[in-house]
Amino acid sequence: MLQLKQISKTYGQTTALQSINLSISAGKTTILLGQSGSGKSTLLRIMNGLIQADSGGTVYFEGTQITQENALNLRHKMGYVIQEGGLFPHLTASQNISLMAHYLGWHQDRIDKRVTELAQLTQFPLEGLNRFPLQLSGGQRQRVSLMRALVLDPGLLLLDEPLGALDPMIRSELQTELKDIFQTLGKTVVLVTHDISEAGFLGDIIVLLRDGQIVQQGNLAELVHTPADPFVTQFINAQRSPIEALTGNL
Ligand code: ADP
Ligand code: MG
Repeated sequence: MLQLKQISKTYGQTTALQSINLSISAGKTTILLGQSGSGKSTLLRIMNGLIQADSGGTVYFEGTQITQENALNLRHKMGYVIQEGGLFPHLTASQNISLMAHYLGWHQDRIDKRVTELAQLTQFPLEGLNRFPLQLSGGQRQRVSLMRALVLDPGLLLLDEPLGALDPMIRSELQTELKDIFQTLGKTVVLVTHDISEAGFLGDIIVLLRDGQIVQQGNLAELVHTPADPFVTQFINAQRSPIEALTGNL
């Protein structure tokens, strides 16, 4: 579904990404995992053409090379949840969700039907649809961001730390829901997280990044049992929970 070849990105003196080659398989959930600053958000933005890779790098989406000219149109086929949600505070939940549908000239009936459908899918209370983001809980805001990304029914969903700001109980609840939603919809998902247990729970494939380079790709068991580099084990052990340490898991 997505093919990235020789993707590098520098911001002045900072090298955010270095020669990334990566294929994203249709229908699977791929996790971009790594510490803060490892290049995850930059990679996601390059995937949907919001920013361009340095010269020499190419991104193909369903066989079409993404360029500055076609990026805007191709983005309609990619839902994107930016880090921190990015909801417009002066628009209601419903208005936030339907922004792109309005822009594309959908009739109000079709928009209302779609918003209701999405609220059911994400278990968002209908009475919350007319509230502003600040009048919603953190978990509800994340649902609104997700609905906004899904409104045009894109084949590809790009999620940048969609559960980042939530407390642990809500986070684990939403992880379960997200997994159900991904399975129900059968979409191709690329999800950014720094949390290895979230990566293992949600991902079919985990891509571990360090300083803008891919250290290893594989499922959680492969990262744990056949680490490609000592860094993989360090990264995993750094997140080992006190409970796991007690019970000897991992
Ligand atoms: P992550 O999402 O993994 O935390 P980012 O992709 O946001 O990482 O950032 C990767 C590196 O690029 C970091 O060193 C960051 O400071 C730098 N960076 C990201 N965006 C910009 C920008 N717009 N201008 C300058 N440096 C940036
Ligand atoms: Mg980021």
